[in-house]
Formats: sequence, structure tokens, C-alpha cells
Amino acid sequence: METQNASLTNIDSLGEFGLIEHLTKHNETRHTTTVKSVGDDCAIIDNGNNITAITTDMLVENVHFDLIYTPLKHLGYKAVAVNLSDIAAMNVTPTHITVSIALSSKFTLEAVEELYAGIYLACEKYKIDLVGGDTTTSLSGLVISVTAWGNAQKDEVVYRNGAQENDLIFVSGDLGAAYLGLQILEREKQIFLENSKTQPDLEGNDYLLQRLLKPEPRTDVKDMLHQLNIKPTAMIDISDGLSSELLHICKQSNVGCNLYEEKIPLDPTTITVARDFNLDPSVCALNGGEDYELLFTLSMNDYDKIKGSPNFTAIGNITAVGTAMNLISSSGVITPLIAQGWNALS
Ligand code: ADP
Ligand code: MG
Repeated sequence: METQNASLTNIDSLGEFGLIEHLTKHNETRHTTTVKSVGDDCAIIDNGNNITAITTDMLVENVHFDLIYTPLKHLGYKAVAVNLSDIAAMNVTPTHITVSIALSSKFTLEAVEELYAGIYLACEKYKIDLVGGDTTTSLSGLVISVTAWGNAQKDEVVYRNGAQENDLIFVSGDLGAAYLGLQILEREKQIFLENSKTQPDLEGNDYLLQRLLKPEPRTDVKDMLHQLNIKPTAMIDISDGLSSELLHICKQSNVGCNLYEEKIPLDPTTITVARDFNLDPSVCALNGGEDYELLFTLSMNDYDKIKGSPNFTAIGNITAVGTAMNLISSSGVITPLIAQGWNALS
């Protein structure tokens, strides 16, 4: 987009993270209760006895979802899930949400009821109370903004900036599936747009589609790690792709890393379907995003406690301050880890 005046700056040139950094670089903290401000998955506010982790995320029609293939019930569920994922990423259990929506006149009552059926389903599953929100009109598409929070003891909280040299890098679940779910839906959409009589062919792809349309936030990881008697040194949720999230941990912790491509956990259907699309399955995991798993680092001393767990996979290690952030390919080639994850402004 051309700007009218040559002295004005196009926001596209900054990228999402550059823009946030620019807008918040003079952000002042006036209250000693603000333990963590901008820059992590949640803000952390001290309440005296414990802390509150708080986060907000907005989903915008035709930016984050396409109503041609997104059932409204799934969308409501996902709008809640992505926020609960950010709370889980701080090692906190979410308890409450508010929900704000902007609707255009194309939506019927029945459609909004479907959206709320999904919102309430997520509340039921994750034991969340919906305690408010806001409702307004939109001239274009649907916008849903959810704010979520939860309390924890101050010393339970895990930030992005605590990774240390020699720590091990772990991830929950498997990665890359949501991106392939999106590829399948985009393919079927194109076929449908060319010939509206064809029915979408979604057979056998339930797992990949569910990972995209109805992600489950890993609020269970906090208890799993507690039972293993492990507190991660740093943690983040994987919303933008493994590369981008690991770079956030490394940059904020001021350390380097080695990430081993061959260790990235992939579901068998992710591998098969990636090949059908002529995609490299590990590239889907590195750059695809929307997996909503948790990426964390822990002290090497904790390795014996976690090594047999089927829930977590070791994918690399943290290296000294000032060293490179490396991706080591399956054939042993070392390249710089780069964030090609999806950019909300592109
Ligand atoms: P996540 O992917 O975990 O949701 P984001 O990349 O959206 O995190 O945001 C990174 C950080 O920037 C968070 O701390 C978030 O609260 C903050 N942030 C994002 N947008 C704004 C904004 N417009 N004003 C102030 N802070 C923002
Ligand atoms: Mg996050």
C-alpha cells in the first residue's frame, strides 16, 4: 500500500513484532505490582499473596479465520483456547475470561448462538468462568477478542527469559499438523470455488483438521511437570511456529541454541500429508504455527526425571550467551534458525 506522504511510514515495513516494540518502547511501569509488563505470553500482576497472569488475543475474520470452512462453534472454542494457551505458557492455570465480539448484520441469532456454544464448550472443558465482555457492530467481518486470566504462586511462574546455557529444550505433543489442516481446507476451498457442486474431500484428515479448527490448550502441562518435580527455566506457547518461539526464548534469555530437526515430534499423518503437498514436514513444524503446544527449557539436572515421559520430547539444547541460534538439519548441516512463521500483518 502506497502512503500519501513520503514522510509517513507504512506499518507493513515494521512487521508485527517491530510494530509492538515501537509502540511500547516508552511504556512506563508505575505500579510495583506490575511484575511483568509487555513482552511475554501474559502480563503478571502481584496481588499480595499471589499473582495474576493476564492475556488477550483477537481473532479477525479473513485474517485469522475464513468462515467458508470454519464452523462457528469451532471458532468460539478456538478463540477461548488460544488465550488459555498463553496462560498455560506462564505455568499458570486459567480460571476466567471475558469475551468481546463485533458482528455485522450478516450474522443471524442462530449463528451467534453457535459461536457461543463453542465458547461455552471450552469453558466447560477447561473449567473457566465467563464473567463479561462487550458486544458491538462491525461494518466488515466478525471480530472476537478474549481476555483470560488465572492466579498462581509467584515462584511458580515461568517466563520467556530464564533459559540458561546447557539447559535442554523440550516440547509437548507434536508439531506441524495445524498448518497441514489449513493446507487441506485451502485446497478444498479452491476446488469448491471452481465448482460449487463438488463436495470437499476431507476423509482421513480428522486429526490435522481438528488441530487447526479446535486446538486444545496444554493446561495439563503445569500438573504434569509438577508431578515430575520439574520447573522449566523458560516457557512459551507455539502459536507462530517453533522457530519463531525458540528465537523469542533465546533472545529474551540472551542465549544461543541448537535445535535438531530430526528430533522434532511429528504425527505420522503430518508426515504423509506434508509429502502429498510436496512440503517438508519439519518445515511445517518450524514455520507453520497454530500448534498451541508448549516449548520449554529445563536444567540438565532434571533430565532423568523427564526422559521416559511420553508427553514431552527433547529437541535441542541452549548454548552460551552470545552464541548462535542454530538449526541442525537431519543430514547434519548447521544453518541459522530464522523466524519465517506467519506474520499477522502480512
Ligand atoms: P502471543 O503470541 O503470545 O499472544 P504477541 O506476539 O501477540 O504474544 O505479543 C507479544 C507481547 O506484546 C505480549 O506481551 C503482548 O501483550 C504485547 N502486545 C501485543 N500487542 C500490543 C499492543 N497493541 N500494545 C501493547 N502491547 C502489546
Ligand atoms: Mg503466546
